[in-house]
Amino acid sequence: MLLYNSLSHQKEEFVPVEPGKVSMYTCGPTVYHYAHIGNLRTYIMEDILDRYLRYSGYAVKRVMNITDVGHLTSDADTGEDKMLKGARREHKTVMEIAAFYTNAFFNDCRALNIRKPDVIEPATHCISDFIATIQVLLDKGFAYEAGGNIYFDTSKLEQYYVFHGFTEEDLAVGVREGVEADGNKRNKADFVLWFTKSKFEDQELKWESPWGLGYPGWHIECSCISMKHLGERLDIHCGGIDNAFPHHTNEIAQCEAYLGHKWCNYWMHVLHLNTASGKMSKSKGEFLTVDLLKQKGYDPMAYRLFCLQSHYRKNLVFSWENLDNAAVTYDKLIGRIAALSSAPDESVDEEALTAFRKEFTDALDNDLNTSLALTALYDVLKADTNASTKRKALEDMDSVLCLNLMEAASRKAAASAESASSGTGVSPELAEEIRAKIQERADAKKAKDYARADAIRNELAARGILLIDSKDGTTFQVK
Ligand SMILES: [Zn+2]
Repeated sequence: MLLYNSLSHQKEEFVPVEPGKVSMYTCGPTVYHYAHIGNLRTYIMEDILDRYLRYSGYAVKRVMNITDVGHLTSDADTGEDKMLKGARREHKTVMEIAAFYTNAFFNDCRALNIRKPDVIEPATHCISDFIATIQVLLDKGFAYEAGGNIYFDTSKLEQYYVFHGFTEEDLAVGVREGVEADGNKRNKADFVLWFTKSKFEDQELKWESPWGLGYPGWHIECSCISMKHLGERLDIHCGGIDNAFPHHTNEIAQCEAYLGHKWCNYWMHVLHLNTASGKMSKSKGEFLTVDLLKQKGYDPMAYRLFCLQSHYRKNLVFSWENLDNAAVTYDKLIGRIAALSSAPDESVDEEALTAFRKEFTDALDNDLNTSLALTALYDVLKADTNASTKRKALEDMDSVLCLNLMEAASRKAAASAESASSGTGVSPELAEEIRAKIQERADAKKAKDYARADAIRNELAARGILLIDSKDGTTFQVK
């Protein structure tokens, strides 16, 4: 499988550290508010990678953190504390906010068929791990104490800007936001590992540490949680492109300084979901959540399909019109699958199935080309083969795409059978009863019991149901 690696800026053949096994780390949400659908695009595409690796036969272990402590509103360790901001907004404690929005996040994931990672670790459960790692960084000379805080010393690294395209200039972002530079830092790129003093509003949650009562920086969280559950060599680290710098850059700095060797081999970054006015955010414009989509009558699967229609390394533009198009496409797709009807003696054409599967895996093996994988799905529907083979191929593909194709199609088929019988103006139960009466009348006629046959006709007529005899049999009509 070819996977684009942000470290080398090219597609590389994916080779895990241990054959047959994949360790995968995903940056989780900061649980201070609902996730917007732009964040969820990242989780959908990571889900495809996770599921496709499993489909390809790998034993995957996937870990995700939950940021339930700290994490300032700006990534450069500046700005306001997001958790505290959420707590103040809703007049709750930080931990109440964390519990509520963690739950909301996993509800959204469930609605979008995003598989739950194997390990979900809240930052507040790992404080002693953070402290131990920071101590090692201090002992090795990669960290220093200044003004009550512990900082990572980026000048001690051979290379800090590991992802090309990021420079010192990126650090100026904080300045543009009107935040003063932190005078304690020896180098501009240094970042906080542990806070005991902050010029910002006090953190609600604090822990004892060798450096005083305080709380961890954001970046140390992911480094420690990943190494705790996935060991010293990580196969794949995923996240949104906005985390590449400084968050992921700092994760690499910390881990490799701590370990003394290379830590993660492949970095997968999902590009932004934009609106017509720019990058989607919680504060700008309409706050787009899964709940809002549902309220407006969209099936969350239409949004999942919308995401799969484009490549994860391209920015995607959201508009209601674009989502409408995806919803119509989804509905038509389900309609076509629902219309597949198998003959009773039909058997699956294994050769055709293998060819379908190959087209599908070729698409995903090429850096998760989901839009080509969808083409493979349409090619199944168009193919000249029996319905049983098509169903089997679609079922197989949907185990990765997870668009609820087969369930939605059988619901649609059942609903249309029901409306076909209710085309006569009666419920399916009554239609069944009438058909039984028609059969009873036919049997009576056959037995020359005309009195019984007439009695049945009259009984139904009294209820407003008229029987119509023709050479093809008896049908009914409701007055
Ligand atoms: Zn992270």
